Amino acid sequence: MLDINKIRADFPILERKVHGKPLIYFDNGATSQTPTAVIDTIVDYYTNYNANIHRGVHTLSQEATDKYEEARIKIQKHFNAKHSYEIILTSGTTESINVIASGFSAILKEGDEVIVSALEHHSNIVPWQMMCEKAGATLRVIPMDEDGSLRIDLFEEMLNENTKLVFCNHVSNALGTINPIEKIIENAHKFGAYVLIDGAQACPHIKPDVQQLDVDFYVTSAHKMCGPTGVGMLYGKQELLEMLPPYQGGGEMIDTVTFEKTTYAGLPHKFEAGTPNICGGIAFGAAVDYMNAIGFDNIQEREHQLLDYATKKLLEIDGLKIYGTSTKTSVISFNIDGIHPYDIGSILDKLGIAVRTGHHCAQPIMDFYKIPGTVRASLSFYNTEDEIDTMIEAVKKAKMMLS
Ligand SMILES: *Cc1c(COP(=O)(O)O)cnc(C)c1O
Repeated sequence: MLDINKIRADFPILERKVHGKPLIYFDNGATSQTPTAVIDTIVDYYTNYNANIHRGVHTLSQEATDKYEEARIKIQKHFNAKHSYEIILTSGTTESINVIASGFSAILKEGDEVIVSALEHHSNIVPWQMMCEKAGATLRVIPMDEDGSLRIDLFEEMLNENTKLVFCNHVSNALGTINPIEKIIENAHKFGAYVLIDGAQACPHIKPDVQQLDVDFYVTSAHKMCGPTGVGMLYGKQELLEMLPPYQGGGEMIDTVTFEKTTYAGLPHKFEAGTPNICGGIAFGAAVDYMNAIGFDNIQEREHQLLDYATKKLLEIDGLKIYGTSTKTSVISFNIDGIHPYDIGSILDKLGIAVRTGHHCAQPIMDFYKIPGTVRASLSFYNTEDEIDTMIEAVKKAKMMLS
């Protein structure tokens, strides 16, 4: 069992007040809060060894390089990648996806097919549309069901010899649905298609094993798993990363440069042009350490308790509907009959409660349910039943004021 008070003490922001009320932070799906261990890592970097990495002969540069590469190894171990150079540090999920989409723009041909799921975040739709347009490939979509799950039966029918790539999120950010990525990967591989899994919403709750999954690419952001913004990861199998062209040209990603021809550096540097987010990468490593110290089994157990508790209490409110009811993480997307989600969100904010309202960068899902958006409460292991009770009272109050 987790000692919740001890864990909450790790997050200084949980002490603050919003509009005179204690902050209740239920927007963890957009970004998680940052524990002292990670904040201290950031302060330590800028206080003691801020320097550019990889090229310096001086002590600070060597210290920064060592810490940055140690972080890469922490991340490698966390995801169980075979080699540390299969972990590319990027600015986040969106950039990681763009690295792959831009690489495949040069490889795909007319007539090739690419499959995405109906549950995607815009960052996992738009880059593929751009890629398909460039390459003349066709984008196909795995439909979703009323309960927020994917129609895997239809996906299996969509696969054929022309399928080259499949993209799916591990967990939907709008509904919290946990997708059957094992099945998706296995079936895609039967047709020789590569699979990219967007783990941005899964990694705060689940510890994926990329070798066991046999996934080709797995991407995530640090800021949803207790790390800082502006840094994330692209995992790719060595042979695939070697096959893809570099994303950006610049310093650090070259082997030799003349005006006639440049040869590229090996992995991971080929995909890491320019000065990276050095402090962010090191702090990403600290975030991974922090979450593993708590333990993903503990995190999941705690979040399930919170999810069950909040779901039961919310459903006691007349006219309240929850979207996405299949297997899921601690995300609750809901609406109340006849009330705009934005209005509920605004009243909750006045009461110190942070939720998200809108389409959650997943407009196709909202179109499926024929709604403009939802109120989304996304819970984390540091939340409490008391906070949920306060939200329930606030939602009831909002309903009374607005209907
Ligand atoms: C948050 C999120 C993204 C985008 O992540 P960035 O950090 O903004 O790049 C992509 N996919 C999913 C499922 C997300 O939840």
